[in-house]
Amino acid sequence: MRHCIAVVGAGPAGLTFARVLQRHGHPVTVLERDPAPDARPPGGTLDLHEGMGQLALDKAGLLAGFQALSRPEGQAMRILDTDGTVLRDWRPRPGDRANPEIDRGQLRDLLLGPLDVRWGRGVTEVVPGTRDGVLVRFADGRQETFDLVVGADGAWSRVRPALSPVTPHYTGVTLVETSLDDVDTRHPDLARLVGDGSVAVYGVNRALVAQRNSGGHVKVYAQFRAPLDWHTNLERHVGLNRRAGLGAGMKAGLDAGLEAGLDAGLEAGLDLADVEAARSILPALFDGWAAPVLDLLRHGTAFVHRPLHVLPVSHTWAHVPGVTLLGDAAHLMPPLGVGANLAMLEGAELAESVAAAPGPGDLDEAVRAFEERMWARAGRWAEITTAGLERLVSPDPAEALALFDEVQPS
Ligand SMILES: Cc1cc2nc3c(=O)[nH]c(=O)nc-3n(C[C@H](O)[C@H](O)[C@H](O)COP(=O)(O)OP(=O)(O)OC[C@H]3O[C@@H](n4cnc5c(N)ncnc54)[C@H](O)[C@@H]3O)c2cc1C
Repeated sequence: MRHCIAVVGAGPAGLTFARVLQRHGHPVTVLERDPAPDARPPGGTLDLHEGMGQLALDKAGLLAGFQALSRPEGQAMRILDTDGTVLRDWRPRPGDRANPEIDRGQLRDLLLGPLDVRWGRGVTEVVPGTRDGVLVRFADGRQETFDLVVGADGAWSRVRPALSPVTPHYTGVTLVETSLDDVDTRHPDLARLVGDGSVAVYGVNRALVAQRNSGGHVKVYAQFRAPLDWHTNLERHVGLNRRAGLGAGMKAGLDAGLEAGLDAGLEAGLDLADVEAARSILPALFDGWAAPVLDLLRHGTAFVHRPLHVLPVSHTWAHVPGVTLLGDAAHLMPPLGVGANLAMLEGAELAESVAAAPGPGDLDEAVRAFEERMWARAGRWAEITTAGLERLVSPDPAEALALFDEVQPS
C-alpha cells in the first residue's frame, strides 16, 4: 500500500529520508521553506562518519558519489596554544576514510539529485488527527493532508509543536562565523596555519576554530561564553559583571574581552554587519593571542552571529499517529560533529521502516519503533556533546586538549 507521506525540510535529514524512500519505490513530497536550493549560503564543511552519515548515504545509493566529492585529507586537525605553539598536529593515514569532510552545498546537491522538492513551501502548522489525515498549513494560506508528516525542519521546527511544547534554550556559548576566500593565493600564511583540515586554539572560556572547505574557502568560528545579546549592549554587560564581582573564574576571559570592546569605543555595541568594526573588535575578545591566529578574524569577509541553542538532553514526546520528527527538530545538540550524521542516519532508517510497512497500522508501528530507537541513540549523543561543549569552551583550556586526546585516534 502507498502511504501519502510528506517531509518538511530539505536539510540533511529530510533529503536523506526522501532519497531512501524513493529508492524503495515509495513516493514522497518534500516541502521546503527556502525559495530555491541556493537561496542562502549553504554553510561550512561537515565530516560524515563511517557508521552514521556515510552509512545513510550508502542506504541512499550515494556512497560512491560522496567518495568522489569528499576530502579525506580534511580530517587533519591541528591544535595551537594561544601563543601560536603547535600542541597537536594530527593527520589521517593514507586511505583513512573514517570521517572525510564535504562542503554542505556539495552534500545538498548530491542528496537532491532527481528529487522533486517543492521550494518556497514554508509550513506554519501541522494538525494531526483530522478526518482526512494530518493537516499541513502553509505560509501562503494553502493546506494539504497526508498520512504521515515527518518534521525535518531543524532547530526552530514548526512541526514540533504538534508533538511537544519544548523549545530550544541558549547554552551560554555563542559563535561568530566568518570566512576567508581564495586563501591559498590571498592569505598563504593563513592557508599554512589551517593546513588541509582544521586548526583550533583554546583559551579561557573562548576558542577559535578554522576549517578548510573546498575551493580555497575557509570558515572561521570565534566561540565564547557570553550573554545572548552581548554584541548589542557591551556596556551593560561589563557594568553588570563588575557590579556582580564576576571578574574571576568562569567570567574572567569574557570580561576581559568585553572590557576590551569598551576600550575600543563600542559602548553602544557591535553591529556585525559592519565588517570593519567586527574585524577590529573581535580580535580584542581574544586579547593577547598570537597575531597569526587573530589574522583569521582580521581578514574575515562577513560576520554572522550563531548563538548555540539546544533542546533538553533526552527530549521525547508521547507518540502521535501520523507525525514524527528527525534530526535537529527532534534533538538539537551542540555542534560537535554529530548532528548532521545523526539526522541523515535517522532519515535513512525511518525511510526503510516506512517502506517496509504494508498497511496503516504497520506504518504507525514502524514510526513508533523508530522513535524509541532514535530517542535512545540521540539521548546518548546529546549527553556526550553537551559535556564536550563544556570542555571545549571552558575556564581550563587544558580540558579541550584532553578531550582531543581522548577521541582522536593515535
Ligand atoms: C557551526 C556548525 C557546525 C556544524 N558542524 C557539523 C559537523 O561537522 N558534523 C555534523 O554532523 N553536524 C554538524 N553540525 C550540526 C548540523 O548542522 C545539524 O545537526 C544538521 O544540519 C541538522 O540537519 P537537519 O536536516 O535536521 O536540519 P537543518 O539542516 O536545519 O535543515 C532544516 C531544513 O528545514 C527547512 N525549514 C525550516 N523551517 C521550515 C518550515 N517551517 N517549512 C519548511 N521548511 C523549513 C530549512 O530551510 C532547512 O532546509 C554543525 C552545526 C553548526 C551550527
